[in-house]
Amino acid sequence: MYLKYLSIRGFKSFADTAKVKFSPGLTVIVGPNGSGKSNVVDALAWVLGAQGPKQLRSSKMEDVIFAGSSKRPPLGRAEVSVTFDNSDESLSVPLSEVSISRSLYRSGESSYKLNEVACRLSDLVDLLGEVGVGKSQHLIISQGEVDDIVNAKADDLRVIIEEAAGITRHKRRRDQALKRLVEVDGDLEDISKMERDLK
Ligand code: ATP
Repeated sequence: MYLKYLSIRGFKSFADTAKVKFSPGLTVIVGPNGSGKSNVVDALAWVLGAQGPKQLRSSKMEDVIFAGSSKRPPLGRAEVSVTFDNSDESLSVPLSEVSISRSLYRSGESSYKLNEVACRLSDLVDLLGEVGVGKSQHLIISQGEVDDIVNAKADDLRVIIEEAAGITRHKRRRDQALKRLVEVDGDLEDISKMERDLK
């Protein structure tokens, strides 16, 4: 599995559609300061589900939408799509290519699609989490993050390692299962009470 295409439109400095094609192996993006290199990486983080504007070097999520320039008015919508080559079926979808899209309108309305079909963020998190790709799995190491990791306190380092190792996903599932068990206990108690009342 590898990242094959990234398509960016209305996102940060990319008013028009920009398509980036990747090949297996190392890809280097070069360009002058302020030309949008980091915005490409932000687009990738965003389409993979980044939720905090700070993760995207913005103060609010709406800031990811093209804000206009001296030559162009602002746009109302940002859309990013990413396509993974899945010929080795690393992702548990029987398709040789898997594409994920995310869009956001200024109104705040947003949507995710998996191969053009609307889906929930949690579906994508589960799908990508299986192969260690996701918003919190240190797929993207930003400038300064290496320093943060080197200087992290033991507890913080543990969180980082657990995320990188994919343990966090299992903890999240365990917490969800425990919550469900509490709900089921409550339901059972209600049923027992109803049974007692009927006797
Ligand atoms: P450097 O080499 O200095 O790190 P870079 O190539 O990584 O630069 P980016 O940080 O990706 O550059 O891009 C910065 C540019 O993106 C700035 O010109 C900024 O005005 C523009 N930009 C950021 N958000 C938006 C937005 N919402 N609308 C329009 N332009 C934006």
